[in-house]
Amino acid sequence: MKTIGLLGGMSWESTELYYRLINEGVKAKLGGLHSARIALVSVDFHEIEKMQQNGDWTGAGKMLAQAAKSVEAAGADFLLICTNTMHKVAPQIEQAISIPLLHLADATAERIKQRGLNRVGLLGTNFTMEQNFYKGRLLEKHDLEVIIPSFEDRQIVHRVIYEELCLGKIFDASRNEYLRIIDDMKEQGAEGIIEGCTEIVLLVKQEHTDIPLFDTAAIHAEEAVNRALAA
Ligand code: GLU
Repeated sequence: MKTIGLLGGMSWESTELYYRLINEGVKAKLGGLHSARIALVSVDFHEIEKMQQNGDWTGAGKMLAQAAKSVEAAGADFLLICTNTMHKVAPQIEQAISIPLLHLADATAERIKQRGLNRVGLLGTNFTMEQNFYKGRLLEKHDLEVIIPSFEDRQIVHRVIYEELCLGKIFDASRNEYLRIIDDMKEQGAEGIIEGCTEIVLLVKQEHTDIPLFDTAAIHAEEAVNRALAA
């Protein structure tokens, strides 16, 4: 079994999910007392979030590149960045390490194409919904059409992530807002919805809606298990 490298803490609410899902995945495949080999470095999200707000992506990239080096030094065979947003600095991180990166947008796009879908709605932080590092990759590398919420609704989605989900707060009123926004994107032609922030599944689960949801934390964790156990 290979050692899975995790760059976590963004937020720890979703890193906890990754840790559980990966261990459950290995146990399901190997049985008994098997568990995953994991090297995890978890950062202080307060520092990362401040740099995001200040637009200091170079600083954030430096900090995460350093953390990724520690993951590699701890024996990881490949790396997962356990957040969609911080894939904005994925190139900086990749440059600092010699192990491969399992890119979250690629893993998610593969899953969407396996389901035969071409047009998806995207929920995430404003950075993820609006900028090209994620949406552009889905379009240019994977030929997916991506729909995002209106400006006003993007502010709601973003605020709920930072002020609620990353703090472990789950409110019915916010779920209803998200479901309304999901329905809007469905009306605009979305065939599925990317939960493009690793905490969104804490709020909206498949049982809450008929439209297929693509939970990025679960997809990423499952791909990690497959890769760790591949010959
Ligand atoms: N975990 C979230 C994501 O997947 C947001 C936290 C962050 O800004 O990294 O984008």
